[in-house]
Amino acid sequence: MSLNIVPEKLNLTFLDSKQAFEQLNQSEKEYAYALYRASWEGAPIVSKQCSIESEHILKLLQKMFLNKNTDSIREECITAGFTDTEVTDLLNFFALVCANLGNYLSFGDNKIIPRLSREAMNKFFTTVFVESLEDYSPLSDKIYSLKDNEKLLGYPPENSSGYITSNLTKNEVDIVDEYIVQTKLEGWNTRLAKLDSEKVPLYVIMIASAKIPAEKHITGIEEFKGLNIAVTYGDYSAELENVCTHLKNASKSALNTVERDMIDKYIEHFTYGDLEMHKESQRLWVQDKSPVVETNIGFIENYRDPAGKRAEFESFVSMVDKEKSKKLQTLVNNAPKFLATLPWEKEFEKDEFIAPDFTALDILTFCNSGIPAGINIPNYDDVRSKCGFKNVSLDNVIRSGYSGGDNEPTQFLSESDDKMFKQFVVKAFAVDVAGHELLGHGSGKLLAENEDGTFNFKDVINPITKEPVATWYKPGETFSSKFGRMGSAYEECRAECVGLYLSGNQDMHTIFSHTNEEWQDVMYTSWLWMIRAGILSLLAYDPEKNMWMQAHSQARYAIYQVMREAGEGFVTIEITEDNTNFVIHIDRSKIESVGIPALKHFLMKLNVLKSIADIENATNMFSAYSSVDSEHINIRNIYMKQRKPRTEYIQPSVTSKLEYVSYPVTPEGMIQSFLDKYPSILR
Ligand code: ZN
Repeated sequence: MSLNIVPEKLNLTFLDSKQAFEQLNQSEKEYAYALYRASWEGAPIVSKQCSIESEHILKLLQKMFLNKNTDSIREECITAGFTDTEVTDLLNFFALVCANLGNYLSFGDNKIIPRLSREAMNKFFTTVFVESLEDYSPLSDKIYSLKDNEKLLGYPPENSSGYITSNLTKNEVDIVDEYIVQTKLEGWNTRLAKLDSEKVPLYVIMIASAKIPAEKHITGIEEFKGLNIAVTYGDYSAELENVCTHLKNASKSALNTVERDMIDKYIEHFTYGDLEMHKESQRLWVQDKSPVVETNIGFIENYRDPAGKRAEFESFVSMVDKEKSKKLQTLVNNAPKFLATLPWEKEFEKDEFIAPDFTALDILTFCNSGIPAGINIPNYDDVRSKCGFKNVSLDNVIRSGYSGGDNEPTQFLSESDDKMFKQFVVKAFAVDVAGHELLGHGSGKLLAENEDGTFNFKDVINPITKEPVATWYKPGETFSSKFGRMGSAYEECRAECVGLYLSGNQDMHTIFSHTNEEWQDVMYTSWLWMIRAGILSLLAYDPEKNMWMQAHSQARYAIYQVMREAGEGFVTIEITEDNTNFVIHIDRSKIESVGIPALKHFLMKLNVLKSIADIENATNMFSAYSSVDSEHINIRNIYMKQRKPRTEYIQPSVTSKLEYVSYPVTPEGMIQSFLDKYPSILR
């Protein structure tokens, strides 16, 4: 089955948070509602960052349902002569675009095209949706086309990107990014366009802002390494104007002064595009410990930019689960103890661990292309190193997305492992996410030279070479600027390794109330989960382009390869004789003797090479473990034929009367949930 065609059946789930929302009082609900509205006013930005056509497909969908009801649409189509399957295929395409806020899957970055034939699609628009025909016609080619350079997101001309125009090359992007570092701009809230209508092309760094700051009305063109570069403001101005309108309401209903100041900084940031204001908001956010309503909004994750520098618009609103958060806070209080068990010397760990907030949240709304299970932000190194960060575990995402609770056997596991997996995976995942976010992303020090020529380290020996450290971060360099596109996968790999490593520590399990009898089963399930995920990650690898499309997938695959390399039959894959199926085996008796030592050594190298900015050795090591040989291409092909689609979350809505709205778990439910919150085209 092609990765680009919408599956026959979507794997949908409802992201339930009703109980947590109903527990809020009136003013808390008002605050949550204002933030919820602000979040979704920014949703079209996510679509624009995905592809040129995404925003138009979503607008088309709104138009299609202007005078229609999702409850009765199936019936109406069937009455018009369509088969049930045709209706499902139609709705599934739009539901999947809604879930990803664009026509590329957030996990894997593959373009999605309808399963429905073009003829049948046309027929829908000449019968049932005839009022939207004129919106559909100019889009139809883009909806269906699957040229080589459209299949995946990435650098043009081989791939597509919503962050950089298609006439740019990697080389040009690199030069502009170098300019961005030199001028201390940072790429997070920018896009890049190349205007080549004139003889000399102009490279325009477009900064997201509702308004143009007065002093920036006239900005010059600078020449840098042979390129003419200009900076402009006002990208996404209409959306950000609306985001700010609702943030102003949120500021009025903020639940404390820190939150009010934080929201005001968000408004300043979105109004004039000043990144420093967003950093200010994050400094305040970190101080707002265990809030009743937790939120964050901004240009946050840079997974999808081919250069790994420009970030997707993201906004979430959630309610804190006080009971579960207590456990996580116990983990935070014990963090220094756990950090000391990680396999590196203290020179490679932060001088002081700033205890972050760590809460379990029930997500009310998450506006971006794909919902994660945990978050550790802010991503700004300079804010993290001075003010720390916060962790969140998205409890209802884990509950509904990773429950493994369906009756079908877990694919590619033996019967006994399947039983174990189903019984313990939610527990295992809770420990892994906590370890991943708090002690994974939260650990490690970047050795750096300060602006004044002094260093934040002295006489450090590199444990890999046993020689004094010879590389470090120069002034202005950050992990993102140094590690670029590989950085996301590399850092996820480091965090995943920490999570898995700590699952072998009984004290971690005690915090999560796992009993003496069960904790080793939970740990074994963590290994099962990771190795299985690593193998199934192959779907996010494109053999034709020899490229990984998803940071977490590449990370888990690399861990799996490390375990294969560890040998001694620790991890094996048994392929059936007819080459149509396989079973993953982990020798449980060798976790202590083979698995953990291999993991420990790999994790040490990951952390040290990151610490010392040794991009060359880091690249060599990481690409070796990420490389996919013919044996694994075969495994990928077997999996392709049997794959089940990823879970897509149908999100609740909130009405202006502060009522919570749930949806049926159907493509119609997904579409209605989207229609109820995406900014209206009628405005
Ligand atoms: Zn992570």
